[in-house]
Amino acid sequence: MDTLTGWGRLPEPGRELFDEDIETLTRGAVLSRGLGRSYGDSSLPASPDDKVANSRFANRILSFDPHTGVLRAEAGLTLVDLVRLMLPRGWFPPVVPGTRFVTLGGMVASDVHGKNHHREGCFGAHVRALRIRLADDRVVECSPEADVDLFDGSIGGMGLLGHILEVEFTMHRIPSQWIWMERERVPDIGAFLESISRAAPEWPMTMGWIDCLKRGEEMGRGVLMAGRWASADEAPARNPGARPEITMPVVLPDWALNRATAGLFNAAYYWSHLRRRAAGMMAPGAFFFPLDVILEWNRAYGPRGFTQYQCVVPRAAGPDAVRKFMEQLTALGAASPLCVIKDCGPEGRGVLSFPMEGTSIAVDIPVSGHIQRVVDGLNQFIISVGGRVYLTKDRFTRPEDFRAMEPRLPRFLALRAKWDPARRLRSAQSRRLFGDAA
Ligand SMILES: Cc1cc2nc3c(=O)[nH]c(=O)nc-3n(C[C@H](O)[C@H](O)[C@H](O)COP(=O)(O)OP(=O)(O)OC[C@H]3O[C@@H](n4cnc5c(N)ncnc54)[C@H](O)[C@@H]3O)c2cc1C
Repeated sequence: MDTLTGWGRLPEPGRELFDEDIETLTRGAVLSRGLGRSYGDSSLPASPDDKVANSRFANRILSFDPHTGVLRAEAGLTLVDLVRLMLPRGWFPPVVPGTRFVTLGGMVASDVHGKNHHREGCFGAHVRALRIRLADDRVVECSPEADVDLFDGSIGGMGLLGHILEVEFTMHRIPSQWIWMERERVPDIGAFLESISRAAPEWPMTMGWIDCLKRGEEMGRGVLMAGRWASADEAPARNPGARPEITMPVVLPDWALNRATAGLFNAAYYWSHLRRRAAGMMAPGAFFFPLDVILEWNRAYGPRGFTQYQCVVPRAAGPDAVRKFMEQLTALGAASPLCVIKDCGPEGRGVLSFPMEGTSIAVDIPVSGHIQRVVDGLNQFIISVGGRVYLTKDRFTRPEDFRAMEPRLPRFLALRAKWDPARRLRSAQSRRLFGDAA
């Protein structure tokens, strides 16, 4: 028996199997798992006896067409390996999340989004075909032309319709190996939302960090970043080298992160951007994956672990809704040094895919005796404005709240009934949210 955890470090007992041969590995398994970078319980087993297929050794690139950028690989290929191989050759994945330590299977199953969602949508928008092992052990190829409902349900389907064995998608050609970045310190949430929407038509990539502990006039002050690939003319001649990495050496005690220390961190980070505006060349690693520089940084949240609450506040709810969300967050006492804001474009094709037109807010919250009350309170607000939470980050949403915020759920459950009527494929999350058997 193993103890498996997501990135939030909350454990579940289970049995994890590893093999280079992903077709053998997934036969009879009830859940797929990549690098376990989902924060909550989506990659954790529903029961200690469940077999979880870990894909990380099934990581071969099967084909690549240098004319079209179409790449096919096994689902366990990691983003860190893909970028290491393809960046020097002038190619980059069309969409990447905020860490390189994810697999292709995990990127599809969560339908990950990046800093370019307003331009490129989610990763699933660039997927051309998936090879999938179904719950009844058949292997099928699905795409926007064949078994379309299985394809759409598997994108963002959290591994509940089938084990993804292979992914075919289109890489982007890039003009250089560098990012041109501009950064601006923004005094409050209103100005922040204005700046991010002003930047969206001009910049392919945007994102911001906000200080979610500040109240009053400075509520939501932060730092907005915008970027684009540098042209070949303006990029430095040298290649960006590998970044030095350090490992968080120990699990910090529970008391280390509290409202006071998080507030100090936030103020220090905000004022470390001394100039109101800055611009320059940046290595893609530092731009896309800033947190990867400290390996195992999740230990900073202490032995009780943490959750990330990520929601989208729809544009239709108006800019004041984001301010009210921030007020709710501070009123509930959720102290966090990490609060990330992104601009989301229109909803993609994945049936349960997370983003929708609006503002995504992600905030790390240490687990304490109050965590359920905090998540419930935030969920009530998100339901009231017609938003939703991101399943790959979620650990505490109640099933009735998820139903209330997800009008697409009946369609997803109908797909499960078609492709896996016995609900053999399941996770700790599907047990919690959809009532699957343990
Ligand atoms: C620091 C950090 C930053 C992040 N930033 C972002 C971000 O900017 N945007 C974003 O969208 N996400 C972000 N994430 C979340 C992360 O991208 C997703 O959770 C991703 O799914 C993790 O990939 P994984 O390979 O570790 O999958 P796991 O965590 O192992 O699994 C996640 C889900 O995918 C399923 N799955 C995995 N492999 C397969 C497969 N082969 N077949 C079928 N189902 C499978 C699992 O069952 C589970 O439901 C971030 C996570 C971290 C830790």
